[in-house]
Amino acid sequence: MPEIILKNVTKRFGKFTAVDNLNLTIADGGFVTLLGPSGCGKTTTLRMIAGLETPTEGEITIDGKVVFSSEKGIDVSPNKRDVGFLFQNYALWPHMTVEQNISFGLENLKWDKARIKDRVAELLAMLKIEQFGKRYPSELSGGQQQRVAIARTLATGPKVLFMDEPLSNLDAKLRTEMRSELKRLHVETNSTFVYVTHDQLEAMTLSTRTCLMKEGLLQQYAPPLEVYNNPANLFVADFVGSPTMNFIEGSGKNVNLDEIKVNAGGMDLIFSPVSGSISLRDDQQIILGIRPEYVHIGQEGKTKAHIYSTLPSGMETIVRVRMGDMMLTSVVFGAIDYKTDTEVNMDFIGENCIVFDKESGANLA
Ligand code: ATP
Repeated sequence: MPEIILKNVTKRFGKFTAVDNLNLTIADGGFVTLLGPSGCGKTTTLRMIAGLETPTEGEITIDGKVVFSSEKGIDVSPNKRDVGFLFQNYALWPHMTVEQNISFGLENLKWDKARIKDRVAELLAMLKIEQFGKRYPSELSGGQQQRVAIARTLATGPKVLFMDEPLSNLDAKLRTEMRSELKRLHVETNSTFVYVTHDQLEAMTLSTRTCLMKEGLLQQYAPPLEVYNNPANLFVADFVGSPTMNFIEGSGKNVNLDEIKVNAGGMDLIFSPVSGSISLRDDQQIILGIRPEYVHIGQEGKTKAHIYSTLPSGMETIVRVRMGDMMLTSVVFGAIDYKTDTEVNMDFIGENCIVFDKESGANLA
């Protein structure tokens, strides 16, 4: 049975629509990220599922039970929804030790002492903080405090865990480490995770499905690799991936069913779109999207281009090249140092371009 279902959920603040007619099914045991730029409605969506915000319209079901319905006048309070929260400011109680912070919720539920002790020990081990049980939060690093906060949230075994940018206060190294911990935790706990982030890399690496929003409207809801490889529209294509996708504007037409000829920047380019067959009107105004890893610089390239800049970072090098009037980004594995303005040969690798309609921005696949 699907765990969480949102049906036509809308939230208005006065005349402003923060979430617009959202339909979403979050599968039991999924790790779903709500992703999008600041103000797109991620937190509002999470808060509505959790019961912290009342939708203006719509229906929300958790585990087969309607927890909100504007039509039926149902609004189940957050503590009756069997959910846990982990927010950006994960304030631990400063006057309590780590063990006391974790056991607090269990004492409230009137668990007996021996059972609480076992559960706390289990959580300390799961989050690798066994040695900190007797310490106070002020005696822990940010990352250790974060682990305690997670343990506290998991203590009562909620079926659904809501997280709103829980890693944003951590430095880059800790964030990477905690991402890996969260991913393991998701597998170990078997819970459903709903996670808000504006960081596309976080969404890509963590989730089983990503819900990408813009101005309150759902743009795409799919596994992250599908979002990356076959974005629904230009907005999604541009938002996901770093360095960002290359966009080439031009007029296109079919050469045959699975090849198109695009006139862009005074050049004719032939592409086989990732979707296989595609049908364009003659001279349809399109935008081609090509990920930087499919822009190839080398001996055998078909087209001449010039190096604009080279940015080596050790593991990879981001190269900006000028091809006619166009500026393109290529990413190459390893450290390469091209001299500025050198002439190079360039090519697009295989079938990895996506064709968008210029006017609507929709993926034409
Ligand atoms: P961020 O990444 O910045 O947290 P978000 O995608 O989580 O953004 P929300 O917090 O869901 O965005 O807010 C969506 C929109 O609704 C924003 O434009 C915000 O200003 C507005 N909004 C949120 N809460 C309220 C409120 N209580 N009253 C009025 N407007 C609100």
